[in-house]
Amino acid sequence: MVREKLVCPVCKEKNIKSCVYPKSTTCSKMYPLEYYDPDGFFHSHDRNVTGREYNCTNGHNWITKTSKACWCGWRQEPLSETTILKKNRDEFK
Ligand SMILES: [Zn+2]
Ligand SMILES: [Zn+2]
Repeated sequence: MVREKLVCPVCKEKNIKSCVYPKSTTCSKMYPLEYYDPDGFFHSHDRNVTGREYNCTNGHNWITKTSKACWCGWRQEPLSETTILKKNRDEFK
């Protein structure tokens, strides 16, 4: 499984570096449709949208929402959305 890289969107914009700390995960509670097709392959058609909150060491705070896809090409509405909650103190300079 390939893990995606993740950098702070605000730091990236400012071209500075930071460590990112994932916080809570929220999930819309829908039961995923899971089944084996006639050829025996497993499908997971999960309609849940996962939201995860992150903090970076420069004090930024944001939420990223993602939806899942299945290997067969099934996908609910593609979603990858970032909401920045806190941009920072250094904005006051
Ligand atoms: Zn940052
Ligand atoms: Zn599938």
